[in-house]
Amino acid sequence: MTFVLHPALRCPVDAVPLVMDELSLVCEHGHRFDVARQGYVNLLGPKDKRSKDPGDSKEMVSARAAFLNADFYQPLADACLDITLGYCSTVAEGRITLLDAGCGDGYYLHHVQKNLPNDLRNRTSLVGFDISKWAVQQCARRCDGTWFVGSNRNIPMADASANLLFDVFGFPDYASFRRILAPNGRLVRVTPGDRHLIQLREIIYPNIKPRSERAPYQETFNVVSEKHITYEMSLGTEELKSLLLMTPHMFRSTPERRQQALSKDQLTLTVDVIFEELETATIE
Ligand SMILES: [Zn+2]
Repeated sequence: MTFVLHPALRCPVDAVPLVMDELSLVCEHGHRFDVARQGYVNLLGPKDKRSKDPGDSKEMVSARAAFLNADFYQPLADACLDITLGYCSTVAEGRITLLDAGCGDGYYLHHVQKNLPNDLRNRTSLVGFDISKWAVQQCARRCDGTWFVGSNRNIPMADASANLLFDVFGFPDYASFRRILAPNGRLVRVTPGDRHLIQLREIIYPNIKPRSERAPYQETFNVVSEKHITYEMSLGTEELKSLLLMTPHMFRSTPERRQQALSKDQLTLTVDVIFEELETATIE
């Protein structure tokens, strides 16, 4: 699909604006980033890479796409849409930037975009990034938008440029989030609740630790709303395999326990997810 240059995109090296120059983005200091033919750009700075191929592997990304495209998490995507509609109703005019930090294969943002009423769709810009280039390639294949490989620690976006910032099962960097959120912007955090996939976790872990200790938000964000989404889904072996592959569970469990989980023809799992909307707090 077509790469869209968002005006708030910044050079990851020196944070100055980027402009399009044929098939590259360049800054005034001559840093150049090629737009891949798939329609995304790699804006990972030299210091942001800890390995040669950071983030989810190609295999994990395919597993996630297979699982999400079967719409087992559609209620979560619907919740993202509801939050977006609620937020947009408070913004009478002007462009609205929806940013997904750690966007994976773009499932949530794409669901939001395709279900927005036309007038809103025309006013919104989709921006998503992930540290896995395989994930970003999937996004670019899915829909037009500003898709780039990047990390939460050094988001190549201008200050105060994001209106709604989604962090869906991600690794938040609150200092970065605070910097790029517009004054009336909202951070949407989506995190697993205590019962999330509990039936699978009971098979995989010998002892399940309660998840009640959630990291506090320090003083930089206020929780505006909190909503729990809970439902059951029934998965066959292939879907369980995809779920195990796309989550960190797979790597923390023993082969025996993985095999035990996959020996079931059908497993009913609880989805228990918390949606929080946060606004930046004023610090004295
Ligand atoms: Zn530069």
